[in-house]
Amino acid sequence: MNVQIDNLLTETRRFEPSAEFAAQANARPELAERARADRLGFWGDQARELLSWERPFTSILNWENPPFAKWFEDGTLNVAYNCLDRHVEAGNGDRIALHWEGEPGDSRAITYAELTEEVKRAANVLTDLGVRAGDRVAIYLPMIPEAIVSMLAVARLGAVHSVIFGGFSADSIRARVDDAAATLIITADGGYRKGKVSALKPAVDAALGARGDLPAQGTVRNVLVVRRGENEVDWTEGRDHWWHERVAAASPEHTPEAFPAENPLFILYTSGTTGAPKGILHTSGGYLTQAAYTHRNVFDIKPETDVYWCTADVGWITGHTYVTYGPLANGATQVLYEGTPDAPNPGRWWEIIEKYRVSIFYTAPTAIRAAMKLGRKIPKRSDLSSIRLLGSVGEPINPEAWMWYRKVIGGKTAPIVDTWWQTETGAIMISALPGITVTKPGSAQVPLPGIEVSILEEGGDRVPHGSGGLLAITEPWPSMLRGIWGDPDRFRETYWSTFPNAYFAGDGARLDEDGDVWLLGRVDDVMNVSGHRLSTAEIESALVSHPFVAESAVVGASDETTGQAVVAFVILKESQAEETENTDEVVASLKAHVSNLIGPIARPRDVFVVHELPKTRSGKIMRRLLRDLAEGREVGDTTTLADTTVMRVISEDVAAR
Ligand code: ATP
Ligand code: MG
Repeated sequence: MNVQIDNLLTETRRFEPSAEFAAQANARPELAERARADRLGFWGDQARELLSWERPFTSILNWENPPFAKWFEDGTLNVAYNCLDRHVEAGNGDRIALHWEGEPGDSRAITYAELTEEVKRAANVLTDLGVRAGDRVAIYLPMIPEAIVSMLAVARLGAVHSVIFGGFSADSIRARVDDAAATLIITADGGYRKGKVSALKPAVDAALGARGDLPAQGTVRNVLVVRRGENEVDWTEGRDHWWHERVAAASPEHTPEAFPAENPLFILYTSGTTGAPKGILHTSGGYLTQAAYTHRNVFDIKPETDVYWCTADVGWITGHTYVTYGPLANGATQVLYEGTPDAPNPGRWWEIIEKYRVSIFYTAPTAIRAAMKLGRKIPKRSDLSSIRLLGSVGEPINPEAWMWYRKVIGGKTAPIVDTWWQTETGAIMISALPGITVTKPGSAQVPLPGIEVSILEEGGDRVPHGSGGLLAITEPWPSMLRGIWGDPDRFRETYWSTFPNAYFAGDGARLDEDGDVWLLGRVDDVMNVSGHRLSTAEIESALVSHPFVAESAVVGASDETTGQAVVAFVILKESQAEETENTDEVVASLKAHVSNLIGPIARPRDVFVVHELPKTRSGKIMRRLLRDLAEGREVGDTTTLADTTVMRVISEDVAAR
């Protein structure tokens, strides 16, 4: 297999950091110097400076049994204490930890002192219900403060949480609960989504019913239920407990016990973009170190003055690291929003930014493209002048989406950090450092100080500058996954078998002349057209740079003459909706546009104007389903799709051509 990926799209726009931003930035050039001089010493410094240890560590990294790393292994700490009590002890108990906004418009401001007390009470409840260090607790909740309280209460006890995204089905819950042998589930009656209460507990009840060969309840002994939707729920006496009753009755005193740095903290399943989700295991000290370090330096957080908002659901890794652990370890003030961006109107997010004067905003390209599709008028209705930094995560951000984000949301001044990382990496690995990096639209840019990344050819040699290959991480990092829960062989096989001494991430990337990294898409999705290996990300970005296009997905479909042919699916901007009448002309213009920007080799054989794209529940495009469609096959496994009817809609759009 030749893995060299041809890269053909050029992007020459550059944005220097402003002198004002640079002067106040947390990230200093010395950070990189220190990391280069003594990488492990650098991580030791971060762990000591950013966290409170009960017993200081003497060992930084134990890599005697790769790929099983141990970081700070003789140190002990309590993760929840680091996120809560120590801020109160330092005199910051009155600082707002959470500005929570419910979808119907109710809200709660919760200080660090209040959050700490709530977590202590919840930890006492969990102890009463039999949870001990090492036990697994499943959390299936909407975006309400209790989701964060639950995670921290579990962590405080040295137990292990497995957060299951609130949109998943009973089958998905049962599979995850069984895989981790969880003994308790924390859920809610329901939560608000798109203007209505969406029930949650029925899915848990169904998951715990006898199913096939599986006994009722499996390993689960107790279900703790938060009251949020006030919808009617079934009740199983002895098993089910109301959160509000138990927590109110519990003692507000709880002394945190210190656990070893390698104590498991959580299991989290990947998004399932490329196949069945994997149960990724993270531990405590190294994970929290890198979460706090990246949150501080990449987002330039100033806990005294910033209002930070990461829109990710806590059901995803971004919600774990950049809603719960990173911001709280750093004592930040953040917004937590329960609902969807368009409830009750498509400007809801921008109204929230105005209401809380959000200064740092972190979201996904899918959300940015959705806002672009609706047009700038909607965000322009709100005062977004508080924004001083923007972040992106989850997929490559198309340069045009980046430019729109900068102009319309960032007021042309806020630096953008495009952060590359994965569930497996636990925290950001590649990103611009605001105030230091000259940013380039569409490039994730530089491995952070302390992180070693290479773009490799199949044989393990580094690609020269200007070429594309496979993204690999060549040295262990503190927040790296410690394995796949219960399956060490799959861990080695999946990530450590492509290269002898490096972690293979599954993504293609290119190195530009300056040494900056550009993500090219999943290696599984790379197309081979007449011997040229073309990246999905580049062709999609070319399409999105056409004034008509809001979003696109590109796949390679088998073709008799060229091996594979480029097939594109595009969603047009709302403002162009009338033009779609004349689709032949639009299609011809889009084909010509790609050919002009990238070259005739990338010219799509087919362009289908569609109304939707298949996405995972975390908003990533599932290209394998579009490939099935393009090749006229039965569409494969759709269980991780956000909307399972979407493939039918797309098939109809395609058939209408
Ligand atoms: P699965 O591994 O089950 O297919 P997934 O990879 O979608 O699911 P996540 O861990 O949520 O699950 O996503 C990580 C992936 O998201 C990365 O491997 C990469 O493909 C993509 N990604 C994340 N951030 C960026 C970014 N800033 N630029 C480009 N791609 C990104
Ligand atoms: Mg993945």
